Amino acid sequence: MNKNCSNIMALAPSTSNKRETVCIFGTGDFGRALGHKMIQSGYPVVYGSRSTQISSLIPKDAELLSHAEAAQKAAIIIIAIQRHHYNFLIPLAEILHGKVLVDISNNLKLNQYPESNAEYLAQLLPGSRVVKAFNTVSAWALQSGTLDASRQVFVCGDDVEAKQMVMNIVRALGLTPLDKGSLLAAQEIENYPLQLFPMWKFPIFLSLGLTAFFFFYCLALDVIYTYIYEKKNFSFFIAITIPNRVCPVVALILLALVYLPGIFAAIIQLYRGTKYRRFPDWLDKWMLCRKQLGLIALAFASLHVVFTLVTPMRAFVSWRTSKGIISQALNNKTEPLNNTNAWISDCYLALGILGFFLFVLLGITSLPSVSNNVNWREFRFVQSKLGYLALILCTAHTLVYGGKWFLSPSAYKWYLPNIYMLSLVIPCAVLVVKFVLIFPCVDKPLTQIRQGWERNPKHSK
Ligand code: NAP
Repeated sequence: MNKNCSNIMALAPSTSNKRETVCIFGTGDFGRALGHKMIQSGYPVVYGSRSTQISSLIPKDAELLSHAEAAQKAAIIIIAIQRHHYNFLIPLAEILHGKVLVDISNNLKLNQYPESNAEYLAQLLPGSRVVKAFNTVSAWALQSGTLDASRQVFVCGDDVEAKQMVMNIVRALGLTPLDKGSLLAAQEIENYPLQLFPMWKFPIFLSLGLTAFFFFYCLALDVIYTYIYEKKNFSFFIAITIPNRVCPVVALILLALVYLPGIFAAIIQLYRGTKYRRFPDWLDKWMLCRKQLGLIALAFASLHVVFTLVTPMRAFVSWRTSKGIISQALNNKTEPLNNTNAWISDCYLALGILGFFLFVLLGITSLPSVSNNVNWREFRFVQSKLGYLALILCTAHTLVYGGKWFLSPSAYKWYLPNIYMLSLVIPCAVLVVKFVLIFPCVDKPLTQIRQGWERNPKHSK
């Protein structure tokens, strides 16, 4: 047998080996769900509980003993008990000496205690080898088998061998262990399940704010103004016309906001002449949520596509078309095709289609399954170069569509600019500054700074 082959044999998990007994302290929801999954995966499970009376809820192949008796039967003990009860473990310190204790606990609030639960457990039982794991998996997901959302198990601990033993169990349960390092990482891991879309908060609030602002802006100009000054009731615009104006406008602004922090970062680096100084906090946070901003922008752009596709089905549109035909018939006059208008409409549609296609491509490449399969250069090419191209196309789409209104005085109802004019301010500013930044006289020093060059080095040799 060759050497490679023996390596493969060594790496392959041994399915024939009998699995080691695992002890679980606590027969609550999580203890039972984890025990059930372990038994399914071939682990003998022994429960340590305050009551040794067998209940129908406990997995039927598991043993139920007192804490002290159960702990003696296994090298790994999973503590499926809330942190505030950990004191009961102190009298068991001798039995638990040298054992691997798996802390799976969570808290009710972020940073509820000064130290993590796992570190607290390690302080209570200094002779044991504490490993943090499983806290991001829910009892319900373990029991129902729907682990799609939480297949990853973060593991951390100071004892490498103990951590490895726990990671082997994680793998055997069909989950993916992710080594987060020493027990110092436990606090961060314990905070994960308490976070609610942390990266999405700013993009969601921003897009809701923009949507509300533009919705009321359109409502005032398209419905209220027309009602007051033209005595026309266009209130039905609220259902499709206004959303179909607001969605592309918000999508375009959000797309521009994905690229704006990069522009600020470049200006700050050029001004400071170094990349070795931290960006302001607001810019750091903004840069971190660019992907979320882009995905929300894509959602708004998709809504715009759907609203546009239903336009021919609208009663208002068929009424306007037939009105045009009837007026031509009554006047006995056929309006010739306006070639300029035909060009304009075809151009903005084509620009919109191409822009949306690139938008979708950006969204797809931001999926972890796709981004994991491209290298950094390829990822940057799509997200930066094609991203800017998408911004150019979408801006041009809006310019060609809304351009005809910009110069017409009737577009300035109540002296306010048309919504399309407002939507172009940030994208145009981003594109103009980006255009300046790619000039060789600006791009060269910026590239040098990003490669580590400093205008006034602090640590000169
Ligand atoms: P639970 O249903 O309330 O069960 C806790 C168990 O702790 C009880 O069944 C009891 O087991 C034991 N216990 C209670 N008071 C005790 C005391 N004074 N001394 C010793 N043992 C005591 O809670 P759970 O939902 O299973 O959660 C257990 C731990 O898992 C918690 O730290 C939680 O943060 C963590 N967790 C839970 C989930 C989840 O989805 N539920 C997910 C991740 C992590 P006996 O009666 O057998 O002694």
